[in-house]
This record gives sequence, structure tokens and C-alpha cells, in this order.
Amino acid sequence: MKTVIRFCSLTHGITLWSFNIHVEIDPMKSLPIKDVIVIETAPSARNLVIAKVVTEEPGLYGLGCGTFTQRYAGVSAILRENLRPLVIGRDALRTEELWRLMMFNGYWRGGPVLNNAVSAIDMALWDLKAKVAGLPLYQLLGGKVREAAAVYRHADGTTHDELAKHVRAHLDAGVTHVRLRLGGGAAETYRSGEAGGMAYGGVNDDPVPAPDGALPGAYYDARSYVATTLDAFAHIRATFGDRVELLHDVHSRLNLTEAIRFAKELEQFRLFFLEDPLALEDFTAYRQLRAHTSTPIAASELFTNPEQWLPLVQERLIDFLRMHVSDIGGLTPARKAAIVAEQYGVRTAWHGPGDCSPVGHAVNLHLNLASPNFGIQELQPFDKTAQAVFPGCPELRAGYLYPNDKPGHGVDLDEALAAEHPCKAEVPQWTQARRPDGSLNAP
Ligand SMILES: [Mg+2]
Repeated sequence: MKTVIRFCSLTHGITLWSFNIHVEIDPMKSLPIKDVIVIETAPSARNLVIAKVVTEEPGLYGLGCGTFTQRYAGVSAILRENLRPLVIGRDALRTEELWRLMMFNGYWRGGPVLNNAVSAIDMALWDLKAKVAGLPLYQLLGGKVREAAAVYRHADGTTHDELAKHVRAHLDAGVTHVRLRLGGGAAETYRSGEAGGMAYGGVNDDPVPAPDGALPGAYYDARSYVATTLDAFAHIRATFGDRVELLHDVHSRLNLTEAIRFAKELEQFRLFFLEDPLALEDFTAYRQLRAHTSTPIAASELFTNPEQWLPLVQERLIDFLRMHVSDIGGLTPARKAAIVAEQYGVRTAWHGPGDCSPVGHAVNLHLNLASPNFGIQELQPFDKTAQAVFPGCPELRAGYLYPNDKPGHGVDLDEALAAEHPCKAEVPQWTQARRPDGSLNAP
């Protein structure tokens, strides 16, 4: 039997973007990979990496996200130098086989750089498979169990009034889940300090001196952070009552005893979840944290290996699993993680910041639509430039994210426009979080 590709009308075929083609692939035949094109682009000032897996069938390709913003060049190098020559000529429909081959072929495996490179091709293969089937990707994952995915949005402010204004804007837009952060700017969760022996924001804004010669960084004081954050939650809960689900991200900057105290104090504000209260390196401490608080816990944003999240799920030490899907190797491992978590009553809340491309967001969305244990999706909405570079971005309406109805994950890439927004290698400043004595802390 022969592989056939036939151009025909929209009524008979699937739509592959700018032109209508109907693809008839003999499922018993292979679909050879012709090329892998690596695209780096930063339409919204975040470095994104996309792989375009091109097949021997004209016009038939898939797109996948391999975005590790801070180390994008490393991901691109693996894609170009190692994975591209490995997969060219192989059957694009053998998704699982290729995932294992890409992961095992270098002997040393795992880690965020390699995982992201594997993810870029893995997501593209799923996209391709769904296009061949003429179906939206969620159909390959079991079909819809919901029509759209609820999202949470971020609200920050340097004062309680400013914070409340942002919460109100989200509620007015139909968003019911809001992640609060007192403060703003590059220091993320905490107030930014000043470099080298200067003062920084302490409890009640009292300046606290850093040692002479302290290095530049995002200085923070755990006591000040906990006290001011609790005050902010009290204000928002008093202002809005239970109209809003509240979330908070600790960004891994507390030790175990600080995290236990904080989570216990937060119980009165009935959080939807408390995110990453402990550092990646401290993941074995979740047993103690869980024993002391009823505040729901979300964790695993920085995890790259099932050995890290599996014990937390099996012992029900967390309530939400929230890995960055490209960071664990793509849809193939994420789909499995969601299914395992479902068996233990753990819900999903995949990481979805600005350094997840629209392609990555679309893959998250299709998985969310098909996962019974989906909880909530983080979303940094796509600006106009991102929507132009990535036609077909998921659409946010009244707090819910919807995919389009195109086969695959539904997001395309304008390569010429992408090239107008090149990536920039920069030294991230916000990752230089420091404690009062100037020592570097997990960001
Ligand atoms: Mg986070």
C-alpha cells in the first residue's frame, strides 16, 4: 500500500493552515522524517525554542516546544547537532520509540537541557500524528472531559490597594483564580534589596544592613516576606470574601520550619494552593510539611525526573503536580505523569509562564482537556506579537482557555516573523536571590 497525499477542498480535507490538504497516510507504512528545523525566537522578550519536524509528505510538519529560556542555546545545539541527525529518515509516527531513542542515545540522560530538546521533537511528533489523523490533539489523549481549561492569573502590587485593584480587574474579566504577590519587578516574590552593603526591605520596611561588600542580588528577608504576605492575604480575603480562589508562590525561598509556620498561618485564608514552599533540593521534606498543615500544596515546577515527583504523588504529599512539560521531556512523559497522579487524587497545574511558548501552552491545554484530574492552568496571556508569530494561539475567554478546532495542537509558526525577534543571551538577575547576610538562595 502506498502513502498518498492529495490536495482537495476544505469540505473533504483537514485544514493545514494557509492551504487545504487532505492527507491519506497508510497507517501500516512509515512517515519518514525529512528534516528538523530549529527556530529561536523572542516575540515577547522571552527566549523560546521551537522544533519543526518536517516529513517527506509536502506540507506535513509538526511543531514542538523546547523552551529553556535561560539556556536556550544549549537546547538548540543538542537539537541541531545530536537529535536532528538521529531522527532524520526515521518513522515520525513511532512517537514512543523515538522518545526513548532520543533520551537513551547519548547514554547520559535527563536534565533540563536534554529534556527540552527531546520535548521539542516529541511535541512535534504528537502534533504530526494528530494532523495525520485529522483530529485535534486532545482526541489522541482520550478525548475531551471538559470544554475548556480554567486558568489562574497573577496579581501583584506594592500596596494592598494596588493588589486589590489587580484582583478586581481579573474578577471583572471572569478569572476566578488569582495568584497574589506583594511587591513586583525583578525580585518576584520578594522586595528587591540594593547591592553591596546597602539596606534592603525588612519587616515593616525597616532597613536592615547587609554585610560590607555584600554582592548584588534580589535581597529578601524571610520574616519580612512572611509577615507582609500574610497581611496582604488578610486584606484581599476581607475585601473580596470567598468570591475568589487565592494562590501564592513561595518560589522555594523558605526552609522547612519557615514553610511549616507560613503554611499553617495561611490556613485561615483558605488557599487554592501554596506553590513551591520548599526548594527543589529539599523535596524530601514534604512529608514533614504535609504532616503540619492543611494548606493545599503545589510543587514540582523545577523537577526533571520522575524519581523526584513520584514519591510525592504516591504518598499524597502534594495536591497539585506542576512540572514544566518541556522540562521533563514533552507530552510523552507528561501524559504518563498525569495518569499516575490521577490514581492518587493529585491534580495537575502545569507550569505556564511567559517562558512557555504558545506551542507549549497549546500542548498543555490539549492535555488539560483530556485529563480527569486537571486542576488549573497557569497562563501568561499571549501579546499581539506572540499571536502574530504563532498563528492559532489558544484563546482566553472569561477565565477559560480554548483551543482552535484545527488538527494537531492547532498552533503554527510564521518563521519569517519569528526571525524578526531574535533571542538574546542575558545574565538573569532575578535568579540571584540572597538572604540578609548576602548568601545566595534558591531563586
Ligand atoms: Mg512557580
